[in-house]
Amino acid sequence: MTMSLRTKLSLAFVLITVTLVLSIGVLANFLLEKNFREYVIENQKKKNTEVVMRISQQYTDSNKWRMDVIEAIGISSLEEGLILKIKGSQGDVIWDATQHNSGLCQQMIYHMARNMMSRYPNWQGGYVVDEYPVMRKLTQVGSVEIGYYGPFYFTDSDLHFINDLNIALLWITLFALTISLLFAAVISKKLSLPITRVIHDAQMIAKGDYTLKSAERSNTKEIRDLTAAVKDLAKTLEVQENLRKRLTADVAHELRTPMTTLQSHIEAMVDGIWKPTVERLKSCHEEIIRVNKMIGDLHLLAKFEGEQLPLNQSTFDVGDMIHSIIINFQGQFRNKGINIEYTQRKQMIHADPDKMRQVLVNLLSNALKYTPKEGKVFVDVESNKDMVEIIVKDTGQGIGQEDLPYIFERFYRADKSRNRMTGGSGVGLTIAKAIAEAHGGRIEVKSEMNIGTEFKVILPK
Ligand code: ADP
Repeated sequence: MTMSLRTKLSLAFVLITVTLVLSIGVLANFLLEKNFREYVIENQKKKNTEVVMRISQQYTDSNKWRMDVIEAIGISSLEEGLILKIKGSQGDVIWDATQHNSGLCQQMIYHMARNMMSRYPNWQGGYVVDEYPVMRKLTQVGSVEIGYYGPFYFTDSDLHFINDLNIALLWITLFALTISLLFAAVISKKLSLPITRVIHDAQMIAKGDYTLKSAERSNTKEIRDLTAAVKDLAKTLEVQENLRKRLTADVAHELRTPMTTLQSHIEAMVDGIWKPTVERLKSCHEEIIRVNKMIGDLHLLAKFEGEQLPLNQSTFDVGDMIHSIIINFQGQFRNKGINIEYTQRKQMIHADPDKMRQVLVNLLSNALKYTPKEGKVFVDVESNKDMVEIIVKDTGQGIGQEDLPYIFERFYRADKSRNRMTGGSGVGLTIAKAIAEAHGGRIEVKSEMNIGTEFKVILPK
C-alpha cells in the first residue's frame, strides 16, 4: 500500500502520542489507585480509633456515660459513614445508630455500595463491623462496634478526584493529539514539498529538459543532497547527451570527407576525365585506409568501453616495460627532433601487461603528435605506499582549459582541423582511461597552452 509522506508522518505522530498518553494514563491510574486504596484503608483505621478514643473520654469518674456527647459523636460519625453501636460492660446497649436513624444507616451503606459499583462494576464489598473495647484506667468499661462499608470505600469527593484526574488526562490527550497533528502537517509539508519539486525535476530530466528551474533550498541534509545529486545527474546527462550528438556528427563528418574524396576521384576515373594512374589509385587507397582505421578505432573503443573489461593480470616490472616501449618509439622521436628523457627504475605492479602497454603507447604517441620539433618529453615512475604513478610530460602545444574536461571523451579532439592532420581520431585517451579505471586506478591531466601537458596514470600496486 503506497501512502503519502504526510499521511505516514501524521499516523506516526498520532501513534506515538496515543501510546504515550495511554501509558501515562494507565500508569497514573494504577499508581493512584494503589496509593489511594492504602490511604483510604489507613484513614478508616484512624477514624475508627479516633471515634473509640473520643467515646472512652465520655465515661465519667462517677461511672456514667455522657449521653448527650455520645449521641453527638454517633450522629457526626454517621454523617461520615460510620454506624456506631456503644455497649456497656455488661453488653447493654448505650447508644445505637440503627435505632437512632435506621433509614439513614441503610441509605449510607447503599450510597457507598453505589459509589464503589460505579467505579468497579464487579465490586465485592459489604457491611463490615469492627469491635473495639472502651478502656477506663486499665479496665474495660464497654465496647464500640463500628460498622461501615468494607473492605474500604470511596467517598463522593474521592470519586470526584479520580474522575477529575481522568478528565484532565483526556484533555491532555486531545491537546497532545492536536499538537502532534499540527506538527505532522508542518513537518510533512516541509519535507514533502521539496521532494515533490525534486520529483518534478527528475520528470523534466526524463523528458530531456536539463535546465532545472527549481532552486531547492532545504535545511534538511538529505534533501539538499538529493537535490544536489539530481542536479549533478542533469548535468552529467546533458554532457552525455551533447557528446552523443557530437559523436554522431563527428563520425558522419569523419566518414564524409574521405568518402567524398573517394567518390569524386573514382567518378572522374570512371568518366574518363582522369586516368587511373598509380598516384591517383594510391590516394584512393589512403582514404580507404583512413576509413578503415576509423572503423578499427570504433571497434577498439567498443571493446574497451564494454561492460567489464577482462583483465589478464600478472606481476611485472612496469619500469622495464616503459623502457622497451620508449625504445620502439625512439626512431620517431629522433626524426621529429624531440628529446625523450627517462631514468629506468624497477617498479613491480600487478596489472594486465598488454593493456598497460596500450595506455603507455597512447600517451607517448600523443606526446609525439602534440609536441613540436625541439620539444622535450619526460617519462617517470613514482610510487608511494599503495599507489604507482606513471608520468608522461611534454613541452608541447598544451590543451586549452575549455577542452580539458572533455579530452577523455570519445572522439573528442581539442583542435579538430589541426588534429585531423596529425591522424588522431580522439579515442586514444578514452581507451587509456577505460583501462586505468578497469585496474581500479585513474588518469589525471594538467596542461597549459604552449607550455606543455602532464598525464599521470595512477594505479593501485
Ligand atoms: P587523438 O587520437 O586525437 O590524439 P586522444 O584521445 O588521444 O585522441 O586525445 C584527445 C585529444 O586530447 C587530442 O585530440 C588532443 O587535442 C588532446 N591531447 C591529448 N594528448 C595531448 C598532449 N600530450 N598535448 C596536447 N594535446 C593533447
